[in-house]
Amino acid sequence: MARFLHTKQLPGLERGTWRRLVLFCCAMAGFIYFLKAQLHQRAAGEKPFVTYLSTASGKKVDPLINVTSWGAPIVWGDREESQLRRMEFADKGVTTGLAVFVIGKYSHYLQKFIVSAERYFLEGQAVTYYILTDNLRGIPNLSLRTGRKLKALYIAERPEWVHLSRTRMSLLSSSIKEFIKNEVDYLFCMDVDQVFINRVGAEILGDLVATFHPVYFNRPHYTFPYETTLDSKAYVEDSEGDYYYTSELYGGLCSEIYELALLCSQFIIQDMEMSYHAFLFEESYLNRFFINKRPSRILSPEYSWWDAPETSNIQVKRILSLQRGCFQDSESKGANCYST
Ligand code: UDP
Ligand code: MN
Repeated sequence: MARFLHTKQLPGLERGTWRRLVLFCCAMAGFIYFLKAQLHQRAAGEKPFVTYLSTASGKKVDPLINVTSWGAPIVWGDREESQLRRMEFADKGVTTGLAVFVIGKYSHYLQKFIVSAERYFLEGQAVTYYILTDNLRGIPNLSLRTGRKLKALYIAERPEWVHLSRTRMSLLSSSIKEFIKNEVDYLFCMDVDQVFINRVGAEILGDLVATFHPVYFNRPHYTFPYETTLDSKAYVEDSEGDYYYTSELYGGLCSEIYELALLCSQFIIQDMEMSYHAFLFEESYLNRFFINKRPSRILSPEYSWWDAPETSNIQVKRILSLQRGCFQDSESKGANCYST
């Protein structure tokens, strides 16, 4: 048998030619594999790899992912990718809206919010602040940098937290439709009880942008507080969901945020028809939305953080939540150190 294998030749081709042919096929297969990998990485926009942060003592802490399984970049402001993104947007001339609700007693957060945004939010870029408020006279008179505007949109609203958590998405979608959509390219929505403490640049701009919740970042999927009531429009099955996102900051192209706000408001209205409101209010519906339509870019907890034992251990903090964590001011609603 061995002798047969050694001596067998197909008609017309010598053994040396066969060997070369096999080698050529292997080389071609390798080349095609390499090309496919390159194309995949290009489609993902960034090279998938994991890095580790070091603490001051040099001890390695949480592993930091740079890209999701579906190719969405995860934004860490000091990384090279973010620098490149800022350079890319430096001369593009895009306009970004920043929308916040300021109803009732939350007006006392507004000045601090705008002053810190003027210092750190999209520095050097055109920004329009949209203040959705029930109190036009409560808007502070602040001088803004060149290219930056503030527009107050009056909304007659009851200053009750639970009521607002049911109506904000529909108020947002109608404000985008009526006023905002023709004025800006991108729109970001934030809670007003936050403050910028570090640079937040064009690295955040993307088609549909979510932000990791600082408590659930790097935590296992089974800990995510998705909605568990089967009949709710926010319901998430155990097999669904990639990450848990915060409702304190999300954004993207104005058209995308319109779709987000409209769909979330429809979910909320449908749940209200059966007298139900999801466990974590808007955040539950937002997380459902981001399962149906995955974000194209995700901001790391640098962009939503508060000081508490439960939040992830990160080096740079850019946006702080004032009502959560251990630095609450005397006027905030809760008395304890941490709340979700
Ligand atoms: N908000 C408001 N008035 C209220 C309650 C809420 O203007 O009476 C707005 C405000 O922008 C606030 C956001 O809705 O930041 C979300 O509410 P909150 O910060 O209390 O929610 P949490 O961060 O606790 O989920
Ligand atoms: Mn808040």
